[in-house]
Amino acid sequence: MKPVAFDYIRPSSIAETIKILGENPDAKIIAGGQTLGPMLNLRLAQPTILVDITRIPDLVRVDDSDDALTLGACITHAAIEDGRVPDAGDNVLARVARGIAYRAVRSRGTIGGSLAHADPAADWLSLLTALRASVLLHGRGGERTVPLAAFVSGPMMTNLAADELVVGIRIPKLGRNGRVGYSKICRKVGDFAEAIGVAVYDPERKGLRLVAGAAGGAPILIDDLAAPPSGQSGARSAWFDDLRSRLQSTSLGTDVYELNTHTATLRRALDEVIPA
Ligand SMILES: Cc1cc2nc3c(=O)[nH]c(=O)nc-3n(C[C@H](O)[C@H](O)[C@H](O)COP(=O)(O)OP(=O)(O)OC[C@H]3O[C@@H](n4cnc5c(N)ncnc54)[C@H](O)[C@@H]3O)c2cc1C
Repeated sequence: MKPVAFDYIRPSSIAETIKILGENPDAKIIAGGQTLGPMLNLRLAQPTILVDITRIPDLVRVDDSDDALTLGACITHAAIEDGRVPDAGDNVLARVARGIAYRAVRSRGTIGGSLAHADPAADWLSLLTALRASVLLHGRGGERTVPLAAFVSGPMMTNLAADELVVGIRIPKLGRNGRVGYSKICRKVGDFAEAIGVAVYDPERKGLRLVAGAAGGAPILIDDLAAPPSGQSGARSAWFDDLRSRLQSTSLGTDVYELNTHTATLRRALDEVIPA
């Protein structure tokens, strides 16, 4: 199929974009077009105007402070993969970027587009939830900063208002000894994940945070566990049994395959940061 006819506009500033969105309720933002392109072709999206935000200088800016890294929404996965932007610690951004789809998609797909689309299986959604990132939003009502965990309300659902756009992502930096384990299960390289496990272990700052991603909705966050004991002891096995029980009480508990794949990715992610 082909898209319905639409106008195309390429604003040069965030303010101009907000004005266009406010005046045209049927307008739709396009960034990398990696998701929206197919949606247009299938006529799942039928905007009257496409607003191309990729030439707005403020959306490719990087702000690197002592405690946080802020990435503009239109920074591509490839730019992160190539190390053209700084890291938030443990080289985790480049590591995860390199596992997203394949290079052609990474060259155009953007971090802001990924978060705005909020596909449950998207890599940034899981990783950045585990890193306590926040999205920076601008709209006619002003600017607001929303923790990613509160921004995503369900599968492909966010709290983005119609006249708002994601302008950036603020990622708190890891402490000096902070480590991130990341594991995902895909049917083949380049596919979206069936299960994602993220383990952030930051002894100086926030202890242990786990995220089970690609779980059908918003990422499942577990941040009240003590670190698992090291060594191949019964205590470590018991710890993972408890983790599995914990997952069983979530939406993953209704399907043994889902429960097992998510438990396995979390275990692999944890083994990376707190080896047995
Ligand atoms: C074959 C294929 C495989 C893929 N595999 C993976 C994978 O393994 N892991 C993964 O994480 N992702 C994967 N993706 C998704 C891809 O990485 C992109 O992140 C994703 O398509 C969205 O980014 P985009 O910049 O292309 O957004 P677009 O397609 O341009 O837009 C997507 C949606 O977000 C909105 N939007 C875009 N930017 C903004 C903004 N700044 N503010 C508000 N709204 C905005 C648009 O209006 C649209 O609704 C895959 C995509 C394809 C085509």
